[in-house]
Amino acid sequence: MRKQDMDKRVTISGLPETPREFGFWMDGGWQGARTLYERISPAHGVPVTRIPVCTVDDLNAAVAAARRAFEDRSWAGLSGADRAGVLLRAADILRQRRDEIAYWEVLENGKPIAQARGEIDHCIACFEVGAGAARMLHGDSFNSLGDGLFGMVLREPVGVVGLITPWNFPFLILCERVPFILASGCTMVVKPSEVTSATTLILGEILAEAGLPKGVYNVVTGSGRTIGQAMAEHPDVDMLSFTGSTGVGRSVVHAAADSNFKKLGLELGGKNPIVVFADADLEDAADGAAFGISFNTGQCCVSSSRLIVDRRVADEFEALVVAKMQKIVVGDPLDEATQIGAITTDAQNATILSYIEKGKAEGAKILTGGAAADLGRGSYITPTLFTGVTRDMSIARDEIFGPVLSSFRFDTTDEAIALANDTVYGLAASVWSKNIDTALTVSRRVRAGRFWVNCIMAGGPEMPLGGFKQSGWGREAGTYGVEEYTQVKSVHVEIGKRNHWIK
Ligand code: NAD
Repeated sequence: MRKQDMDKRVTISGLPETPREFGFWMDGGWQGARTLYERISPAHGVPVTRIPVCTVDDLNAAVAAARRAFEDRSWAGLSGADRAGVLLRAADILRQRRDEIAYWEVLENGKPIAQARGEIDHCIACFEVGAGAARMLHGDSFNSLGDGLFGMVLREPVGVVGLITPWNFPFLILCERVPFILASGCTMVVKPSEVTSATTLILGEILAEAGLPKGVYNVVTGSGRTIGQAMAEHPDVDMLSFTGSTGVGRSVVHAAADSNFKKLGLELGGKNPIVVFADADLEDAADGAAFGISFNTGQCCVSSSRLIVDRRVADEFEALVVAKMQKIVVGDPLDEATQIGAITTDAQNATILSYIEKGKAEGAKILTGGAAADLGRGSYITPTLFTGVTRDMSIARDEIFGPVLSSFRFDTTDEAIALANDTVYGLAASVWSKNIDTALTVSRRVRAGRFWVNCIMAGGPEMPLGGFKQSGWGREAGTYGVEEYTQVKSVHVEIGKRNHWIK
């Protein structure tokens, strides 16, 4: 295959006449691959991209390129201001190519075009915040060790980072990490999900145009079982940032332990509670609940999938959520009016439908949804609300990763908190109450890495994200995110004449 000369004047409406063919990105340029995987749009059933199926040799070459770029100091040796300059130029180019990137996200993932554009705006903000963080990155000093000794704590980049990402927010999850990894001075090799690789590849071209030295950002595409596993086992990868399912996260931990004890950042699954008190603005909370489970067809790690509602208002509140869910526009993701699009993979579609069947079989009652929507092509599922859910049901415990909300009732604040914490996960949570004492008590006692009070999925890349319990290790984004990709070194400086040990 010839080296790629990316055409920026792609059509950004309608379906592509032929699938767009990509190379993989290494050492500052496109590389050909022998085998290509054809991605079919989950909403339209037509081929949209052709993506390299890379080999472990390709991965090894990319890791070697990232190692060279790290050791030659072409990136780590720059000032924070110079690194920030590259990140800001990348933000500008992203702004120019926003519609194009959103378009490929839609075609590979099935998400609505209007939502995809909003996500690219968030990605631009990530680069801008990353630029600020690059300039502000600093260590610490200890002026408290006595007149004879001075202590400095240096922050140094960890080295070569492997980054493995999932398919639900291909570009957004990438951009919640890449600028912060770059801000730290690290170099990287990215392995996107095999079904949504296009925009991760396009970012290579954007970063090169922004002035990123070659070898700092590399992308190797292919399956998790081959490329992902080899990356987790790779002895020359210093840190691995993995975002995906808890099951694969566990295998990545084993692979790191069995290879070189690489540092790990893990962003895993969630079964996130939304707790609604009787004194909440119930109209607002119902909109938040319907949005929290339906956005991105519930294929969000932070989807609020367990509704925990005050028994005094439960019937009224569930009716409000049903009314909201029934108004959500399910449709072709290329249609501007669509609010939720296609389920991204056939396997995920089957998983969601199987959980709906399990919920019914276990005795929960469907108040709305619970079925596939037939739009002629693609897989769509209408937002679903189950009531009468008990703690032991699979729809209460498992991450479904679809638009399926399970409703529970509580009588006391303690009971609401216990229900919220009754999960192996701890990714995100939300509470709705106009009583500041209630809202703060729940925020402080529910174990989750991200918390929303009278809102849901709000925030910006200034704030850290990550999970408690089996939802992961470490934090991404903001200054916390940059620090995650550094390690600290204590430097001790003696001042004056040494007090001799051998007299
Ligand atoms: P997944 O775990 O199947 O795949 C994630 C990535 O890991 C993909 O790139 C895949 O190719 C790769 N992979 C698969 N097997 C691997 C292996 N053995 N070794 C190394 N890499 C391997 O997850 P998914 O289905 O793509 O995404 C859905 C999951 O991701 C959900 O559980 C969701 O909660 C989670 N997620 C978490 C966050 C977060 O920030 N916590 C964000 C998004 C998604």
